Amino acid sequence: MPDPSRISTPSAGLARLSARLDQFAGRLENRLIRAVPRDVMEVPSEEPIVSFTFDDVPASALEAGAAILEANGARGTYYIAAGLEGRIEPGRTLIDRAGCRELAARGHELGCHSFAHHDLRHVDGTTLAEDLARNGDYLDTIDPRPSRRNFAYPYNSGSLGKRALLARTFRSCRAGGEGINRGPTDPAFLQAVEIRQPQQHVLGLARWIDALVADPGWLIFFTHDVSPQPTAHGCTPPSFHLLVAYALARGCQVLTVDAALDRMGLREGRP
Ligand SMILES: [Zn+2]
Repeated sequence: MPDPSRISTPSAGLARLSARLDQFAGRLENRLIRAVPRDVMEVPSEEPIVSFTFDDVPASALEAGAAILEANGARGTYYIAAGLEGRIEPGRTLIDRAGCRELAARGHELGCHSFAHHDLRHVDGTTLAEDLARNGDYLDTIDPRPSRRNFAYPYNSGSLGKRALLARTFRSCRAGGEGINRGPTDPAFLQAVEIRQPQQHVLGLARWIDALVADPGWLIFFTHDVSPQPTAHGCTPPSFHLLVAYALARGCQVLTVDAALDRMGLREGRP
C-alpha cells in the first residue's frame, strides 16, 4: 500500500504549480525593475565598500552577528519586520523590542523590512502604505531619526507598481540579485549577495570581496541568523567572522547602508 503522505493530490499539485508560476513572475518583475531604473545614482569607483545586513531579524544576528562586527570595529544594518517580533520558528527566534533597542544603542542601523513581511507584489498600495507607517512607528519609538530609513524588500521581491511609494518613503531599498553595485545604480533597488548555507557556499563568498577590490563599488551582503546550527538562510559565527575580517584585511570600508550612502555622497531619492 502506498504511503499516504507520498500521494500527491490534484490540489497539492496545483498549489505547487501556482507557487512556481508566482516565483517566475517575481523574477521577471525584478528583471524589469532592473532594466528600467527609476532613479540612477553613481556609485563611486574609488574605494571598495562593504555592508553587512540582516533581514527579519533573528536574535542571533544581535547576539553573535553584532558582536563579531563590533570586535572588528564595524557596524551592521538590521532590517526589522516588527510583525515578526519575538516569534519562535524552527531554528530561530526573532528579535524583540529590547533587542532592537540594544542594536541601536550599540551603533547599528535599524532599517525597515515592512511590518507584515508580505511579498509586496501581493499587497495593494494603500495597505502597503499603512504597513510601512506601522513599522516606521515601531522603529521610531526605539530609534527616532530625522531622516528617512533604509528598506529591504521581503523575499527580495520588488514591485513595479510600488516603486514611487518606496522611493518616496525610503532613502534606499535593498533587493537581492547576487551582484555588486557599481556605477549607475538605482538606490530603490540595490543589489545584494546572500550569505546562506551550505557552509561551502559561505566560504566561497570571499571571491565577491576579491572581485570588489579588483573593481571597486559597493558590495552588500545579507543574511539572517548567525548561529552554530544555522538555518538554510544563515551562517555560523566563525564563517561570518571570516568574511568580516577578510573584507577589512583587503582594505574595504565596512559601513552600514546609511553610512555607505553618506560616504558615497549619494543624494537622497526624489522627495
Ligand atoms: Zn525577510
